[in-house]
Amino acid sequence: MSFSSSEQRFDTVVIGGGQSGLAVGYYLARQGRDFVILDANSRIGASWRQRWDSLRLFTPTRYSSLPGDAFLTRDKVADYLEAYAARFNLPVQLDAMVDSLIREADRYLLTMGGHRLEAEQVVVATGAFQHPRVPTFASKLDLAIAQIHSNAYRHPKQLREGDVLIVGAGNSGAEIALELAQTRRSWRSSCSFTGGSFTRRSTRTTRSAVVSRN
Ligand SMILES: Cc1cc2nc3c(=O)[nH]c(=O)nc-3n(C[C@H](O)[C@H](O)[C@H](O)COP(=O)(O)OP(=O)(O)OC[C@H]3O[C@@H](n4cnc5c(N)ncnc54)[C@H](O)[C@@H]3O)c2cc1C
Repeated sequence: MSFSSSEQRFDTVVIGGGQSGLAVGYYLARQGRDFVILDANSRIGASWRQRWDSLRLFTPTRYSSLPGDAFLTRDKVADYLEAYAARFNLPVQLDAMVDSLIREADRYLLTMGGHRLEAEQVVVATGAFQHPRVPTFASKLDLAIAQIHSNAYRHPKQLREGDVLIVGAGNSGAEIALELAQTRRSWRSSCSFTGGSFTRRSTRTTRSAVVSRN
């Protein structure tokens, strides 16, 4: 779908067309509501496709709604979301980055570039992982150590030859460490980010650091 005029009014606007936004859209469609789902990306499932190549969901497939595979790959879940939107004919407007949202009198006003939208209700479903968080100590590491956030990590070839320190031992850190450990010595740090005492010791022989804190 696309907007025919620079100003339009809806009963409900959903900002974000990921899992949450599409699920909300499903129920709004079932109620016959006048609504639109706006997403900043040019393809449904983009937030998954932009993650590292070998990513598998850490949630078992039975919790991600697709039977068959034990743990879905990144692209399968993205394709699933895309097919889901098509199957239920959800009105998703892509390349629609919402710049502002304000309440004015009894309605909401949204702007997207030159477009202005009005809505009785707005659902903000923009996700929790849009902006990587880089710990403050990162700027204090030796400049000889290449650093990359998991947000920008795609595959091992992005890193320099040699040992690597993976900072953060959550799901992302664990999965990336497992991948890197197949081809090089990999160290994983799970200490508190408020400390930083590991930096001197653990990075002594390290040529790269992957920060996996979302
Ligand atoms: C590396 C990584 C691995 C993960 N693995 C799992 C897993 O295995 N299992 C699991 O359940 N969860 C996992 N998660 C969490 C997962 O991202 C969420 O469960 C799920 O994607 C949340 O869906 P969402 O719709 O809330 O957000 P998202 O999927 O992030 O969707 C938000 C959408 O909002 C859009 N948006 C943002 N800002 C704007 C704006 N201003 N205007 C318009 N559109 C906007 C974005 O383009 C995006 O498409 C993982 C997260 C990360 C970072």
